[in-house]
Amino acid sequence: MEISNIVFILVLIGSGSFFAYNVRKIIQNIRLGREENRSDQKKERWKTMIRVALGQSKMTARPIAAILHIFIYVAFVITQIELIEIIIDGAFGTHRFFYESLGGLYTFTISLIEVLSLLALIATFSFLARRNLLKIPRFVKPEMKGWPKLDGNIILYLEFVLVVCIFTMNGTDEVMHRMNYGESYGFAISSWMGPLLFDSLSMDTLVVLERIGWWGHILMVFSFLCYLPYSKHLHIIWAFPNTYFSKLKPKGEFTNMESVKSEVQLMLDPNADPYAVPEVDPNATPQRFGAKDVRDLTWVNILNAYTCTECGRCTSECPANITGKKLSPRKIMMDVRDRVEEVGKGVRKEGDKFDDGKSLIGDYITEEEIWACTSCNACVQACPVNIDPLEIIIDLRRYLVMEESKMPSELATMNTNIENNQAPWQFSPSDRLNWKDEA
Ligand code: SF4
Ligand code: SF4
Repeated sequence: MEISNIVFILVLIGSGSFFAYNVRKIIQNIRLGREENRSDQKKERWKTMIRVALGQSKMTARPIAAILHIFIYVAFVITQIELIEIIIDGAFGTHRFFYESLGGLYTFTISLIEVLSLLALIATFSFLARRNLLKIPRFVKPEMKGWPKLDGNIILYLEFVLVVCIFTMNGTDEVMHRMNYGESYGFAISSWMGPLLFDSLSMDTLVVLERIGWWGHILMVFSFLCYLPYSKHLHIIWAFPNTYFSKLKPKGEFTNMESVKSEVQLMLDPNADPYAVPEVDPNATPQRFGAKDVRDLTWVNILNAYTCTECGRCTSECPANITGKKLSPRKIMMDVRDRVEEVGKGVRKEGDKFDDGKSLIGDYITEEEIWACTSCNACVQACPVNIDPLEIIIDLRRYLVMEESKMPSELATMNTNIENNQAPWQFSPSDRLNWKDEA
């Protein structure tokens, strides 16, 4: 075994372990959320996942972006086939391990990868232009400054370098193959592009360039693997469980709080024993009304936050945001992710008792944002990976109303009227039919 093979194996194990370690931390963070049963309707869930995550059905609302995204997505998936060969070659010192055994199928597969890589390169330039030159409004909102902007660009730079490395590797190898065996590999692009660019180079230079392309390619893949858990691009993994566990109920249906529901049912039941002691598990942690911090949210809400692609489709459809209010549903998801990262780190260090005196409401999301929501569900409808920012907003509101008695004055008046008059309006129930005397 040569030194390069040992280096390769060490880099492979190192980056794989680093990735697994970080994904484990994210799973721990997701588990900080409250229990929520999403194990029902398995068939429907599989269908949703295949349609929305694999088939990208909700991307089609913006067809040009959908086509460009599909180039990168398919190129990413198909390139993994070539990766198997690269890992075998890297570990055992072989060269194009499958070339002899697969014959025409090999030529077809590498040709497909080359065509897809070229399309991915076109998509990469378009996405870079969209973010940095055209400055499409949803990519330049306040929450997209700093790291989110850089994160969106880094992956595109990596993609660019990766594709350049693939064509350098295949192009130089094509020229060397012709020199050594007098025949072409017959790959769709490098078989003509290679001689065009590299024909005049000496064998020594070709060998060096081929190795630069080969190592550059695989190092980009390993870098991507290490970088993924810190990036919004983790959606390439989480989109699948996220759509599987997405809400299957109608969008307008809010979740009931069981404790409140049973209290109301008790009040409305004429046969109920008003002195009955409610059944309570003495060991259970008392549940907060609504959500003040990330640990009051469900694990699905936190999974949603890790899946957010920061595409801003929700924000661009949000009537509150469009009319200049401070609310951006994308920011809500980004805040949840930032806060759960902070809490997760603290819990791993100090255990379940961790308390830094901060919370999602106040330190990350303001009351102004929460109350700007019209609960229209446009963000939920627009999200390409079935994220539900509204569910989080409603739980944050519930906390403010039920635990802090904080709400806009209009709502406070309405609540008082409901309490006193059994209607949102400020007149006595006995006056309700007065209108008929005026008719
Ligand atoms: S539900 Fe709220 S956050 Fe979502 S689009 Fe409507 S107003 Fe915006
Ligand atoms: S919540 Fe959905 S639509 Fe909104 S930014 Fe995230 S992925 Fe995009």
